[in-house]
Amino acid sequence: MSEPIELGSPADKQNKIDLLAEEASGCKACDLNLTRTKVVFGYGNPSSPLMLVGEGPGANEDATGLPFVGRAGKLLDECLREAGMKREHVYITNVVKCRACLIEGRSVRNRPPTPEEVGTCVSLWLEKQVAVIQPLVILCIGAPSANSIIHKNYRITQERGQWQESRFARYAMATLHPAYILRLQGEEYDRARATLIDDVTAAKEKAKAAKKEPKPTLF
Ligand code: URA
Repeated sequence: MSEPIELGSPADKQNKIDLLAEEASGCKACDLNLTRTKVVFGYGNPSSPLMLVGEGPGANEDATGLPFVGRAGKLLDECLREAGMKREHVYITNVVKCRACLIEGRSVRNRPPTPEEVGTCVSLWLEKQVAVIQPLVILCIGAPSANSIIHKNYRITQERGQWQESRFARYAMATLHPAYILRLQGEEYDRARATLIDDVTAAKEKAKAAKKEPKPTLF
């Protein structure tokens, strides 16, 4: 007979996340389902105290069903590695689970998801995902993610480096999006890349420290 799965254990979290992902794979709550190939639910360790959240999938993610696997994702992986982590050590997802795009003839271009698409996806999937994973720390990848997770007027230039409270995690902060970094050149590129590594490292340290803090109790 197999061992019973303990509530809140890594196996329990993995089961719950797998079930949610299965449910989300057929989501038709908004029109993004008409143009998506795959729902990009999330990847990594659901028992990690650290969650990375981007804005939404692009073409490579839509094709594979995995978050951050294009050029921006490769840069994120490099920065995680330089901070002593792999993507399997954290949980990576996006605010919106389906690619938002504009189709004009044969050309398909990414577009930002609308506030309605964001609102629907957050309440249907991100909130439930976070309720299972219960991350202690969220590092938002780019300002649009921080606008949903931290506050709607979040400015990376002014607020980066400050850990803030969020309804999704005890500590949250945003860092530069790797797709933005890839558009820079020379010293500007080097500086921005170093900033992403610093922020990923700070998020790892924050998660380690938060694990040692006593759990907040009602009384
Ligand atoms: N950009 C994002 O915000 N998320 C991805 O998954 C890929 C690119």
